[in-house]
Amino acid sequence: MAVAPASVLSLAAAAGGGSLLFRQLFDGDTGTFTYLLADVRSRQGLLIDAVFEQHDRDLALIRELDIDLVACLDTHAHADHVTGSWLMHAATGSAIGLAAAVGAEYVSLPLRHGDRVRFGERAVEVRATPGHTDGCLTYVLDDQAMAFTGDAVLVRGCGRCDFQQGNAHTLWTSITGQILSLPEACLLYPGHDYTGRSVTSVAEEKVFNARLGGNATERDFVGHMEAMKLPHPHKIAEALPGNMRSGKPRELAAVPAWAPLTRSYAGLPELTPAWVVAHQSDLTVLDVRSAQEFNGPDGRVAGSLLIPLPELEGRSSEIPTDRPLVVVCHSGSRSALATQQLLKAGHAQVANLHGGLSRWAAEGFPLDGAIPA
Ligand code: FE
Repeated sequence: MAVAPASVLSLAAAAGGGSLLFRQLFDGDTGTFTYLLADVRSRQGLLIDAVFEQHDRDLALIRELDIDLVACLDTHAHADHVTGSWLMHAATGSAIGLAAAVGAEYVSLPLRHGDRVRFGERAVEVRATPGHTDGCLTYVLDDQAMAFTGDAVLVRGCGRCDFQQGNAHTLWTSITGQILSLPEACLLYPGHDYTGRSVTSVAEEKVFNARLGGNATERDFVGHMEAMKLPHPHKIAEALPGNMRSGKPRELAAVPAWAPLTRSYAGLPELTPAWVVAHQSDLTVLDVRSAQEFNGPDGRVAGSLLIPLPELEGRSSEIPTDRPLVVVCHSGSRSALATQQLLKAGHAQVANLHGGLSRWAAEGFPLDGAIPA
């Protein structure tokens, strides 16, 4: 069951041939794809088009896979969502990469056509692909097996050209000259999709893209783009100014954090044994194991409250509501489920003990009634 942390990344990458970890993440609210790439040997990685609201999710994955994030890259200044680049920089120290042409604040990696962004032994090549906006970039993986096209090419479509200095003639030149000129087998990963499609290829778009594939000419393409009547993206008023600050919040929300919670990729708030030990007198420690385990040789946290997981719903009135709650079990698995239940039931200050009592014991913290193995 337990896998050594150092090998998780290489195991996670095994399906992709071993040397590169690749993940496609999705924000359902805005139909935005975020891409994580990592060089397995060096653990260095890149995140492309992070979404502000998905920061906790992305950070949890990067931490669980132990990736050293080199940079957060955006394909352009988005009009439909705020980038997560600044938050990721604040959390990990990663660089913030965006087209120099955009002129956004806090960009530490101003990118130009022909630049390369390295991560370990791998790299992406930066190609300027303006037309949707004048600062659009496509990131092409070093072996040209994948390209991240932002909104220049979408699956069977392309980005609109009717605001943000968009220009259909320019987009035609970018797509034909910089994207469809890649090897036909090159996979194209778009910035968005709204109907569940996740990836395409140069060969497919050359044949099936109704706007620019088949026998379409530049005149056909421009005619099509100029005839489109699209509503303005509803988040544009907040998204553009936010992206000109690389997604730095105007005011860091003063979240009344009751504890230095980390959030797992599964979405659960978690705490370490060391923090719980140091703050035990201000907390309720809720043990959700069986009574037999609670009174058995593994021992229990002094003063903890026992409510076995199957009885939790029926006995919730026994849980004190005046103090934060830390839920524990043997490994952190049943307590994860209990934490989820308690959050759903409206407990605001509740967290799972990461690693459970087995980690607690392994780190040398005391357990009442424990009999050394
Ligand atoms: Fe866009």
